[in-house]
Amino acid sequence: MRIILLGPPGSGKGTQAQRLVQRYRIIQLSTGEMLRAAVAAGSPVGLRAKDIMAGGGLVPDDIVVGVIADRIEQPDARNGFILDGFPRTVPQAEALDDLLKHKHMKLDAVVELRVNESALLQRVETRVAEMRARGEEVRVDDTPEVLTKRLATYRSLTEPLIHYYSERRKLLTVDGMMTIEQVTREIGRILAAIGAVDSTPAKKPAPVKRGGTGTAGKAVRRGSRSSAVGSRSAKKAAKAVRKVGKRPAKRSKKAARKVGRKVAKKGARRVTKRRAKA
Ligand code: ADP
Repeated sequence: MRIILLGPPGSGKGTQAQRLVQRYRIIQLSTGEMLRAAVAAGSPVGLRAKDIMAGGGLVPDDIVVGVIADRIEQPDARNGFILDGFPRTVPQAEALDDLLKHKHMKLDAVVELRVNESALLQRVETRVAEMRARGEEVRVDDTPEVLTKRLATYRSLTEPLIHYYSERRKLLTVDGMMTIEQVTREIGRILAAIGAVDSTPAKKPAPVKRGGTGTAGKAVRRGSRSSAVGSRSAKKAAKAVRKVGKRPAKRSKKAARKVGRKVAKKGARRVTKRRAKA
């Protein structure tokens, strides 16, 4: 599976990427982390990136494309990867398309984490406070001033990718304002709907204790209702899987993929409409 996580700083890309890594045994490629490592190592790439990153700007496309091109060549990327923080500009997305085409690799989906901008500053402040409490070094670009700049950079240079990938029917939008757990579940569901991952059978709900409330099921339903694409895709995917019976045969995957693409398209259309209204 090869996917891209798209969303502004603080939208939860890193957190969700790590959860996907655990669940699907694929690697996370975070250009932010790679660049921070290069800065720490004082490599030529790091020297070029250092001040740009500290100011909240974007490192030139040729540098990050080079970094990613080298990385996806590695054997551990063969099973798939999650791109976190890349691509961040349309030219980067075009370069990635070329790169994947050249290597006969297919991109399964672009998962956009949609969040309210007003919540982002608070989230980053919380992240900084938690890192301080753990005695970890805080990122130099995690200040309110630089975050404002990073958000502006996201809006002008990265947000156009939403249109780019929705036109290519790759975009799946998830409500990133839900809890971490709900977002993870929703991502899993939509990836199953497009056939990118096998849909794991739902866990049997824990027996409800007398007088208990059994909140797990409720959390799932709440989450799916508030997501932009997930609820419908989940139902349709479930239907597609049910149609072909219990065996996870090829047909079920194919059917799910067909349904998923349709849903992705509808979702993308809905998003575009909403954007046009705004
Ligand atoms: P964020 O939480 O802001 O998404 P990241 O860790 O992904 O942070 O990135 C930190 C910084 O690294 C960015 O502000 C930018 O300067 C640089 N960077 C990361 N990825 C890219 C990229 N694909 N293109 C250009 N610059 C990048």
